[in-house]
Amino acid sequence: GLELRNIVKNFGAVEVIRDVSLHVNDGEFVAFVGPSGCGKSTLLRLIAGLDKPTGGNIAIDGKDVTAISAADRGLAMVFQSYALYPHMSVRENLAFGLENTKVAKAEIEARIMDAARMLEIEPFLQRRPGQLSGGQRQRVAIGRAIVRRPDAFLLDEPLSNLDAELRVSMRAELAALHARLKATMIYVTHDQVEAMTLADRIVVLRGGRIEQVGTPLELYNKPANRFVAGFIGAPH
Ligand code: ATP
Ligand code: MG
Repeated sequence: GLELRNIVKNFGAVEVIRDVSLHVNDGEFVAFVGPSGCGKSTLLRLIAGLDKPTGGNIAIDGKDVTAISAADRGLAMVFQSYALYPHMSVRENLAFGLENTKVAKAEIEARIMDAARMLEIEPFLQRRPGQLSGGQRQRVAIGRAIVRRPDAFLLDEPLSNLDAELRVSMRAELAALHARLKATMIYVTHDQVEAMTLADRIVVLRGGRIEQVGTPLELYNKPANRFVAGFIGAPH
């Protein structure tokens, strides 16, 4: 499991994350929702070990993330900005970091084709990111995480750049992927429908604090306050 204990993060004098504690079970699908600037991406970066908390600690299976090498954390992050390698083809972007591991060449190829089919990016495998639309890049970024077969996915608004139709089909694909890989998913979204339909639990953030954590049904039926109700779309 993943354990966040009393996480605080300051940027200069500004407290961006304020005493966040959360336990995520293995295989759980947890959505982080909340307004722009509430600290969702910051929290993901801390979980990924890309940044250090000012206070508190984060543990994966009881081990502090900072004590585990990046390769051994078993995490794959999809960044809000995609963070693709511009000079590499889509195929190379997908394979990057897998080539010099124990994963066999044929297995890498099979995973790439599997992800490309699911994400409908097969026609673009030879192109560079600069030759793709925003939504296509976003799908490549998701693909790069999938081919790693991580224990946990950290997804920062992975469907934000897709049109409504693709969003709906990708939502179903992500649900199927979660069922198939049984990986933990930490999923940042602005979209309450995504959170309500995909997540086992939803974490509502505001101003760097957790307002409420619960199943979609719990938040809908018993929102802790008007803010949560408003965000979830529950009557209030
Ligand atoms: P959005 O929904 O717009 O992506 P978010 O919830 O992901 O927002 P964060 O990116 O986590 O928000 O940012 C939280 C706060 O921390 C914001 O006020 C942001 O300006 C600030 N912040 C983020 N990164 C830095 C940084 N490196 N230096 C200073 N302030 C930062
Ligand atoms: Mg963000």
